[in-house]
Amino acid sequence: MIPYENLKRLNTPFINKLKQGFDKVLDNGYYILGPELEAFEKEYAAWHNIPYCVGISNGLDALILSLKACDIPEGSEVIVPSNTYIASILAILNCQLVPVLVEPDLATYNIDPDKIEEAITPNTKAIMVVHLYGKCCQMDKILAIKEQYNLFLIEDCAQAHGATFKGTLAGTFGGFGAFSFYPTKNLGALGDAGAVICDDETHKNTLMQLRNYGSERKYYNDIIGYNNRLDEMQAAFLSAKLPYLEEMNAHRNKLAKLYFDNLNDQFILPVQDADYYDVFHIFNIRHPKRDDLQNYLAEKGIGTVIHYPVAPHQQKALAGVKGLKKSYPIAEEIHKTTLSIPCSFCHTEDEIMQVVEALNNY
Ligand SMILES: *Cc1c(COP(=O)(O)O)cnc(C)c1O
Repeated sequence: MIPYENLKRLNTPFINKLKQGFDKVLDNGYYILGPELEAFEKEYAAWHNIPYCVGISNGLDALILSLKACDIPEGSEVIVPSNTYIASILAILNCQLVPVLVEPDLATYNIDPDKIEEAITPNTKAIMVVHLYGKCCQMDKILAIKEQYNLFLIEDCAQAHGATFKGTLAGTFGGFGAFSFYPTKNLGALGDAGAVICDDETHKNTLMQLRNYGSERKYYNDIIGYNNRLDEMQAAFLSAKLPYLEEMNAHRNKLAKLYFDNLNDQFILPVQDADYYDVFHIFNIRHPKRDDLQNYLAEKGIGTVIHYPVAPHQQKALAGVKGLKKSYPIAEEIHKTTLSIPCSFCHTEDEIMQVVEALNNY
């Protein structure tokens, strides 16, 4: 059996560090907004060479609070890719903003920069890019558009901890870098967790207020806020694992290279390009007989996942949402043919070669 993911195995190398983190919080007696959160925020900002990090309860809330901090009028349009996890779009809808879906580039699976301008109207106020599967978007073109139209930039970095485009880290392109530390992500907590990184002090202060009832000083509330704090325990666990993020990403790259070097040409593989350092949160292949291929691998004891079986615009929840088109053919094509194969920090090279052999015999 080769599971798609095994979190117990993934966290085994960190057991002692995680237990030390647990003990520290228990000894401190601070559980919310204490020294562990402050330490992790400093470390995560420093890791990105950016001034600020604000711990948030999870990735969805990190996106929502980033949009709230932009302080744009309700009903404003936000550009977002049609090929994404639905959380990106839910964040926009939950802020009473209008998602304007732009199709991806079939080569990178990320938003197609050449299709963004035609989607911009006078009501467009922000662009939310999603660095999907651990590959950065083509940010030079996107930043030029952001500047020309004076838009806010929100990066959904939930799958891209440590990914770079032309040497710049995901989350540091000049807006809000929203992260999820859901347990399966490249940097995963032992529960729900998230953060926003940014280089603007005012935005940082607003985010800190928003996550804590709109309050800077206890029992004095300046704005209408939420309870979206990152707790001490998760912060301590994240601090324990952060020093190994680079190594975990390198491991995923080593496994990905085995696929690139050894898979035969019946599969469409992700595009490789020297401008990008990909962190392979997901290693996807595409095949016209995807469902049959998935069953075949399951029979051989190999776990796979489809990211995602239903495109966001085809989800029941989004039926009737204003401005959505009936069809986004490129997103639909990806959702119909994509298959995510094992490529986690928990896998060995030997296991990946077994997956390669099974795939090549298909
Ligand atoms: C996981 C994920 C999120 C949401 O993160 P949570 O911590 O689960 O709320 C948002 N966007 C993308 C692209 C994700 O993969």
